[in-house]
Amino acid sequence: MQQLLKIIERIDRKGYKAYNDLKGAYHFPDFILHLDHIQADPFASPSRGRVIVKRERLALGAETDETNERRVAVIDFFAQELQEVIKKQKEIKGIFIDGPGQEVMDRTAVVLREDELDIRFSIQLPARGRTILGKPAKQLLTEHLPAVIDQAVKNYSPEKLKTHIALADDQTTIRRFLQENHYTAFIANGSVLPRESGVSSRPLKSSDVVPFRSPPSLEVEIPLPHYGPIKGMALKTGVTVIVGGGYHGKSTLLEAIERGVYNHRSGDGREYVITDDSACKVRAEDGRSTASVNISPFISNLPNGKDTSTFSTENASGSTSQAANIMESLEAGTTCLLIDEDTSATNFMIRDARMQALVAKEQEPITPFIDKVSSLFNEHGVSTILVVGGAGDYFEVADCVVMMEAYVPYDVTEKAKEIARTFGSGREGNKNALFGKITERSVDLRSFQARKGKKEKVSAKGKDMILFGRDAINVSGVEQLVNGSQANAIANMIRYVCGVYDKNAALSDILHFLDEQVSEKGLDEVSPFKGRHPGDMAMPRKYEVAAAMNRHRALRVDNPS
Ligand code: ADP
Ligand code: MG
Repeated sequence: MQQLLKIIERIDRKGYKAYNDLKGAYHFPDFILHLDHIQADPFASPSRGRVIVKRERLALGAETDETNERRVAVIDFFAQELQEVIKKQKEIKGIFIDGPGQEVMDRTAVVLREDELDIRFSIQLPARGRTILGKPAKQLLTEHLPAVIDQAVKNYSPEKLKTHIALADDQTTIRRFLQENHYTAFIANGSVLPRESGVSSRPLKSSDVVPFRSPPSLEVEIPLPHYGPIKGMALKTGVTVIVGGGYHGKSTLLEAIERGVYNHRSGDGREYVITDDSACKVRAEDGRSTASVNISPFISNLPNGKDTSTFSTENASGSTSQAANIMESLEAGTTCLLIDEDTSATNFMIRDARMQALVAKEQEPITPFIDKVSSLFNEHGVSTILVVGGAGDYFEVADCVVMMEAYVPYDVTEKAKEIARTFGSGREGNKNALFGKITERSVDLRSFQARKGKKEKVSAKGKDMILFGRDAINVSGVEQLVNGSQANAIANMIRYVCGVYDKNAALSDILHFLDEQVSEKGLDEVSPFKGRHPGDMAMPRKYEVAAAMNRHRALRVDNPS
């Protein structure tokens, strides 16, 4: 620490480049500070440093990270505490941490090892113009940073950490219960599903909130180790249709289910909304590209004669993009599809009797989802939860119909089935048609070029765009990719696998390999800066990794015949 002070004194008032002398490791009373990367000028992305605290100083026993879920909970806890301390103290400027949002996920901002806690910061080193300001730099590194560590880490509340870990245990128990008992999703009574606004994922806090309450016929009770018995609505595997009038909370329910693939932090309102981890939201996404996707279960006989078993396009339509999204999710291994009419192509979802009468079958390339949803479950074991306010024809294929009425769900399965019997739809259904083949593809990794000029350029711009060399991959239609740090991790993962496989590899092998490496070695592994500050990454699911690769416009694939 004395040495750090000496260097700062020496470079005070010099040109910004002299900050580079700070690179190195410094012993503080409670931790070691590593300054890994120093920004070249005040306008470049901030400098990066790590703080290493010995674990024995923190009284984190072996039970704190006994399971992977607990380890992630601990990481999330410290990242959250650090973020809050930094935010609360107005005088602290220039220290940042890649803190968590509402979802609890593994991230590189904090790493818990057997013997230490490793915390990763970004630091904006102070300057006037391009001149180093020694005094505030000294304050930042030797006073503010230790104060932040002191409050958020050294003096953390063990009680608070304990409840954090307990919640993770309970969430894991619900996940296991769903799997063992063939449910796709659980929404606890009392959950708060609506969000503050369309651009915020914080809970709506208002007296108008209607807390969730399960209809009696769909209610189950799950014994949780810490919370005790919890009651809520459990949706069985199969086909679930959510109906109801406009503005009655259908999409809000589905969105909560979508996010239930992640655990939520305490106070979110969706802590006990848990979904099959593999569930994939699929939507229409016209304009996206596709590379040799087999969409023939849904689309065949296109007017231009294109082969739909290896469908490639630079500009998919609403229906073909939705078909591709479904087939790609199935290829990646999902066992539950989530679909909202709000973001679907109507002609992909349904074709009613009158349209069938007017447009000859031979002239219609699309077999609508309604004719495949049952065989998808019967043949492939893939469930569907879908929101349909406008197409009662779905009653016929539904195993369960939930009606939202003023934000309260009712089980209307019997009534819907009776209506389906009484009012025939008149449409020529094809409920028993075979689903068709789910084709696995082999990806040519040479279609990903990380270089842009002489340097590799791989990063994310928010959560909607991945920058890979000269290419930009638009992932804005991938709704379960929830933050930019996940997008950043995906970018690094793609570069990482490009360095492992030199040519082609089955997409499923790539996803499996990544999963194996990252679970064994940690997310740091995919960063070119491992051992230093690996950048701000958060763990994506394999479905989002596949989704990003699939949206790469230069992607080339081979289909094994
Ligand atoms: P739908 O899809 O049925 O048209 P939405 O799910 O979009 O309806 O919900 C309509 C509005 O109602 C949204 O502004 C949403 O935030 C709000 N909302 C949804 N669920 C609740 C609830 N349980 N309590 C209060 N407001 C809610
Ligand atoms: Mg809606």
